[in-house]
Amino acid sequence: MKYVIALDAGTTSIRAFLYDIEKGAFVHGAQQEVASKYPFPGWVEQDANEIYFKAAYVLNDCLAYAKGKVAGIGITNQRETVVLWDKTTGEPICPAIVWQCRRTSEFCKNMPKEIVRRVKERTGLTNDAYFSASKIRWALDHVPLARTLLKEGKLCAGTIDSYLIFKLTEGNVFATDVTNASRTMLFDIHFCDYDEEIMRFFGIPREILPEVRASDADFGTANIGGTKIALAGVAGDQQAALIGQAAVTEGEGKITYGTGLFLLFHTGGKCISSESGLLSTIAYQVGGETAYALEGSVFHAGSSIQWLRDGLEILSTSSESERLAISVPDAGGVSFVPAFTGLGAPHWDSEARGMLTGLTRGTTRAHIVRAVLESIACGARELLDCMTKDSGILLKEIKCDGGASQNNFLMQFQADVSSANVNRPKERESTALGAAYLCACAKDMMSIDEIVRRRECERVFVPHEKEKAKQVYNSYLVAEKRALMHFEN
Ligand code: ADP
Repeated sequence: MKYVIALDAGTTSIRAFLYDIEKGAFVHGAQQEVASKYPFPGWVEQDANEIYFKAAYVLNDCLAYAKGKVAGIGITNQRETVVLWDKTTGEPICPAIVWQCRRTSEFCKNMPKEIVRRVKERTGLTNDAYFSASKIRWALDHVPLARTLLKEGKLCAGTIDSYLIFKLTEGNVFATDVTNASRTMLFDIHFCDYDEEIMRFFGIPREILPEVRASDADFGTANIGGTKIALAGVAGDQQAALIGQAAVTEGEGKITYGTGLFLLFHTGGKCISSESGLLSTIAYQVGGETAYALEGSVFHAGSSIQWLRDGLEILSTSSESERLAISVPDAGGVSFVPAFTGLGAPHWDSEARGMLTGLTRGTTRAHIVRAVLESIACGARELLDCMTKDSGILLKEIKCDGGASQNNFLMQFQADVSSANVNRPKERESTALGAAYLCACAKDMMSIDEIVRRRECERVFVPHEKEKAKQVYNSYLVAEKRALMHFEN
């Protein structure tokens, strides 16, 4: 058995990668796109059946390539998205409500103060529509079949990992891992169990929720087109990336520059409660030990580059942004704030909107592109400052991954503006790598310490133009204040 498979069930695509444990490398991959629907402004839905069938398809592809030498499958997935299904048939009873969906914003805004306080204290999260609990509540209120099945004791509600595990094991295992559970807003991250009082508030009984297991646990046996194979090792995508980046000791952190930007900072066995708007979450539970993390996110990072390309049409490809940014010595006084759908941590303001400031008659598209790239790094710097305030630890090195981490200008500016080295690994698929490692740990093929030895660095960006970057950051903060002003038309 020389291979494990990492199944990465992301928001835009489902991918499976065959990982060779001895060689320490991915040897084969398969991918299927996943469609999202936007039935009303702010709503985002997906078809859980499509997710399952495409997962089975890509797994089949990798299994065929491996010719029977696979020890197990590790799963990583988009977090918070919820699926409700019939326990007897495995059929979803409504569209999956995706993490980006804002349909429960009002509900969350109006949550009683005592519950908001308890949610923060027990789950480490804020009262935001982003997390699963209010989405499950919404389905119980609006999908008649959900109520019927609930009364009959046949309802299941869970995140994407739990649905895939249920389907792949033919209904034999209804379980999730601690990292996914920690994003539901129902899970006490200190006691590692669902919280009775919060469940009561949301009207979500324990019976409809998956059993919670460790990240390196056994999740049963999958049947993939007649091939029986172990499911072992599960983690949410950001936590899997932290493991894939080998940020497995206290004080280490990673930033993923994808559609959004996600900072995760390992706080060891201590759960640090954030006073500055970050989230506390479980990093993983491996070898019986629970590790915690502080998390901050910027909703639009790479998607701002997509906006330049597809909305403003001033780029033909995302990578062209690098060439344009370095064609000018600075952004010519232009600052940008990517608050297209509000601002996430540390502001949590859904009414804030995007901002482009400092335009003059001399402004060119190169200045605007540079300002947009700078804004991504400035958003990350703001999160890093919060993290230092909360933990008292100054991050000396940022491990980077995600599509936009290919951009050398962005990575260099990130180093400059945060006065920290930015370390880019050779293996860019950190999320899938994390799932492969978790599976290998679960199958006793490697230990968590070995992950550190396996990480290979491709390039380190060392800070040099710190003063100039500081000025850029100060201008960004001024523009951000304006974005938070909520102009009425
Ligand atoms: P996700 O996993 O969230 O779908 P990826 O990690 O695949 O995202 O990254 C894709 C994002 O990265 C896109 O938004 C794209 O605009 C951005 N991106 C890709 N390459 C570059 C680049 N060279 N410079 C800037 N942004 C880039």
